Amino acid sequence: MLKIKYDHASIKTKRKAVRESLWRESKNIKSGTMDCISPLDLHILYEHYDKIFFKSWFRDNFKGQILYELSPRMTKSAGKTKCPKNIGQMQPDEVKVIIAIGVDFFFKYNQLVGSKNVCGLETHNGLEALQIVFEHELIHVLEFLLFHTSSCNKQRFKETAKNIFGHSQSHHHIPTNLTLAREKYGINIGDKVQFVFKDKPLTGLLVNVTKRATVMVENLAGEYVDKNGTKYEKYYVPLERLAKAR
Ligand SMILES: [Zn+2]
Repeated sequence: MLKIKYDHASIKTKRKAVRESLWRESKNIKSGTMDCISPLDLHILYEHYDKIFFKSWFRDNFKGQILYELSPRMTKSAGKTKCPKNIGQMQPDEVKVIIAIGVDFFFKYNQLVGSKNVCGLETHNGLEALQIVFEHELIHVLEFLLFHTSSCNKQRFKETAKNIFGHSQSHHHIPTNLTLAREKYGINIGDKVQFVFKDKPLTGLLVNVTKRATVMVENLAGEYVDKNGTKYEKYYVPLERLAKAR
């Protein structure tokens, strides 16, 4: 495994250096606030992380490619690394690893209240949060390349993430739309909510929150039936149009 270990102060300095390099080179990101991002921005991050944190390990050892996916929809986890299952049998230059980033959380960062803890670290703006999620994904990439398998629940991952980036938790405790619903609108799964649909006020049960809220509204002609035989119609409602029903 990579024998790299930094103390907290150097991690902070290095993370700041990465951020400042991104500001210099990115067309989209010029401050901590995020409202626009492209795959190239992630590539810029990758190159500086490699140089500043990994002592150019990726440049010197990885002959394949990292591809970046930006998704507005990944609401449950803000990042995901995908690696071919047969990486062990592939030629080094054929390997393509995908880092997928769900941008929703970073764009909505300022709308969320409360502590925004990512991998055990307090964050202060959308870009800082993105950096820490990206760092987490880079450890996945590193493990896939070295061991052909990676799990952030395992000890090896946790140790590496702690040594290199000071992460004290594996899970991104990322406020999702569900957190936003709780914090900003005071509503939770199972609550009775109201919204207006085609000028008609409707009341229903909030059953899920992903990109939008899923609300089941009683309707005799509905196509969903619960165990008591009550029929429902399903609605997908933007969060900002929901209110708690009294
Ligand atoms: Zn992970």
